[in-house]
Amino acid sequence: MIQDSVRSDLAEASRPCVICEADAGPQVFDTRLDICGLGAVSFGIRCCAACGMVQQSPAVGAEVLAQQYRLFSNYTQFDQGDPPLSAPAARMLALLERRAIAPGRVYDVGAATGAALWHFRRRGWAVSGCDPSPKAVEQALLSNGITLDLGDEHEALPPLADLDLITFSHVIEHLFHPRETLARARRALAPGGLLLFEVPCLAAPEINPPGLFMLEHLSYFDAVSVENLLAATGFEAVDSEITVDNWPFPVITVLARRTPDDVPAAPLASGVAAARDFCDRYAAADDAAWARSDARLRAAIAPGEAVCVWGAGVHTSTLLERTALATHARLVAITDRDQQKHGHALGPYRIVPPEDVLALGGKIVISSYVSEAAIARALLAGGVSRDRIIRLYTADD
Ligand SMILES: [Zn+2]
Repeated sequence: MIQDSVRSDLAEASRPCVICEADAGPQVFDTRLDICGLGAVSFGIRCCAACGMVQQSPAVGAEVLAQQYRLFSNYTQFDQGDPPLSAPAARMLALLERRAIAPGRVYDVGAATGAALWHFRRRGWAVSGCDPSPKAVEQALLSNGITLDLGDEHEALPPLADLDLITFSHVIEHLFHPRETLARARRALAPGGLLLFEVPCLAAPEINPPGLFMLEHLSYFDAVSVENLLAATGFEAVDSEITVDNWPFPVITVLARRTPDDVPAAPLASGVAAARDFCDRYAAADDAAWARSDARLRAAIAPGEAVCVWGAGVHTSTLLERTALATHARLVAITDRDQQKHGHALGPYRIVPPEDVLALGGKIVISSYVSEAAIARALLAGGVSRDRIIRLYTADD
């Protein structure tokens, strides 16, 4: 962690605050990782000195992110029948119901396979949306009978007008220019039209996962920066709710209304103190979490012992950076269930199929915060003995 100084080697690619456009503030995190299929990737996290917005700066390059999405995007396949109601969609619908919003025309940006829209339609909404993935658009039509526009919001929103509601579920944190996107959304809404979105929320730092500040998330909102984003883009909050008890990190769900054109923008509030407090406490918790993982690895693996790693995601990139695994043990292979990763390199290691790792016979370090328990169960069910499996977060079932 770097305190109160912008490092000169990072300053060149700095990215102005996505809300207030100030270009100053302390670098609170600085990450350089070898990422599967992408090579060495670096980015910083900065807390805006003027408004407190926390965001990538310098940010990951647009071409790096495009490569990441192109190589490793997955769409959940589901069985025939009703698509599941995701937790974000349930919270967004609950906010509308709490405010007694009557159904009208809704447009979902980043609609994926249309599962959320399916549930809006069932409640009486006329539904449409867009997604940049041809696979997602095809599946939305085949599985859910929903026609989506193929493309990003910057292509899809401009031709639209007089919508009653535009939704973004876990999309805004991925955008390089969220203000421009919300300005486009505003123009596509009817006067008094509504905006409904959910994003991760910087809250309860001690319960957040390791690796909260991640490659794909360019902005990190909290209650203040959400209000500031709305004020800066011609919206006013109608209702919002922070859900701390959400896996794997807290979220904020927000319903806002388009303000009339002649209403001046509200002044921005300062979220600097709260954001700095979050970042300091999260950094301490994150350091402690990696130290615990390092201790677990050293206790479970003899010096120089051959081990494999299960999981080739950013968690593994970070594990190799933040623990002594690669020097304490002899890391012989990394695998992943995702076939798209096989053959790609993660630092000096090439990702191999799971059967190669199972055939080697040594200990296996599970490297996934979100899926550790599920992977352990699958390995046990596949005949891997319990004493070969090393977990970092969860206890044996
Ligand atoms: Zn700012």
